[in-house]
Amino acid sequence: MPVEKRNPIPVREAIKRVVEQDIETEVQNVPLNKSLGYVLAEDIVATYEIPRFNKSPYDGFALRSEDTVGASGDNRIEFEVIDHIGAGSVSDKTVGPNQAVRIMTGAEVPAGADAVVMLEQTKEGDHTFTIRKTFSHNENVSLKGEETEVGDVVLKKGQRINAGGIAVLATFGYTEVPVRKLPSAAIIATGSELLDVGDELEPGKIRNSNGPMIEGLLNQFGLDGEVYKIQEDTLESSIAVVKQAMETHDMVITTGGVSVGDFDYLPEIYKALDAEVLFNKVQMRPGSVTTVAVAHGKYLFGLSGNPSACYTGFQLFVKTGVLNMMGANEKFPQVVKATLMEDFKKANPFTRFIRSKATLNGMEATVVPSGFNKSGAVVAIAHSNAMVMLPSGTRGFHAGNTVDVILTETDVFEEELLL
Ligand code: AMP
Ligand code: MG
Repeated sequence: MPVEKRNPIPVREAIKRVVEQDIETEVQNVPLNKSLGYVLAEDIVATYEIPRFNKSPYDGFALRSEDTVGASGDNRIEFEVIDHIGAGSVSDKTVGPNQAVRIMTGAEVPAGADAVVMLEQTKEGDHTFTIRKTFSHNENVSLKGEETEVGDVVLKKGQRINAGGIAVLATFGYTEVPVRKLPSAAIIATGSELLDVGDELEPGKIRNSNGPMIEGLLNQFGLDGEVYKIQEDTLESSIAVVKQAMETHDMVITTGGVSVGDFDYLPEIYKALDAEVLFNKVQMRPGSVTTVAVAHGKYLFGLSGNPSACYTGFQLFVKTGVLNMMGANEKFPQVVKATLMEDFKKANPFTRFIRSKATLNGMEATVVPSGFNKSGAVVAIAHSNAMVMLPSGTRGFHAGNTVDVILTETDVFEEELLL
């Protein structure tokens, strides 16, 4: 069979084709305490103001600012305490001239009062206190609606819910949250050379590391993956398994078998499934043969078998596709500039992605390849939190050059305490 001619497209174009697909999971409600990482399916609109009432940010006394005019060290002004309220209580008194209500943090400022004096700013007597400074209208008052007004969109449809989002949803009484379902994924490793993790090694065989890695990548993202039995490089049985996986999952992630070798059956499988191949060659290294197809409203991610290429394909295309399915507004990898700390002499005929360790030191980010970095490499992935991205048509990068870096770990931690 002649080798199929493929047309490599730029990485950017490949990512665009992934997100152009009109594939979204259904809307469902999830309990608030399970909503972390989901994408909101509706705008969340404030149904009341935050704060809901004028409230005290301190423990102190609520009084009328006009009664403080003229107060000084030489002229302390005295106030009579007419009530005492904690957070959650409301005073039924109205504060009159030279009167005050003792008030705790979070309590509603009583009628008549328009300023709060902190306890530390007073000298207390019996049912009285004096102050030595003037207060202005609304001084030390958290004003009703100062953060949000009724009708403000406080969370946007398409926003991924973080812990702060949960706090906002809780504030507005959402015990259930409208979100798009997390896509379910099938993970299928292909290759007659593959053994399961617990198997004894045999001549010519290697353990399947991509399957568990992909599962970990999905888990890190809040998704589950169903790991299928390793598929030998046989066409009929592989077609059957991918078909079955498509029936039960929103997307199918395969690794291996996307090249043009004699036993690389993924292209034939896509044909058999009548899938629309979005691309089967990308101007990137590693992973130029990465393939993405869609069939029956589902993504088929054909990642390369080489571990570093598999990882790179996941970061660029699977994450983006998953976020697209979830209806997320922000779905592209975060790219930052960093100073390369090592020479990288190789030519880059295609865009090159290098598993790397980025360090953010105050205002300055540095980055260094995280180890042996051929496409078959596995150890360097484990030591990376980023990928250096070198544009195609370049060569001869030196330590000190500024390069683009994709941050692959959402939480970046330091090894040392830099406080
Ligand atoms: P392929 O993409 O099937 O041509 O495989 C490319 C290279 O990746 C070969 O050296 C395979 O042995 C290796 N490989 C394929 N699948 C896996 C896997 N699941 N885990 C680790 N290595 C793999
Ligand atoms: Mg293979």
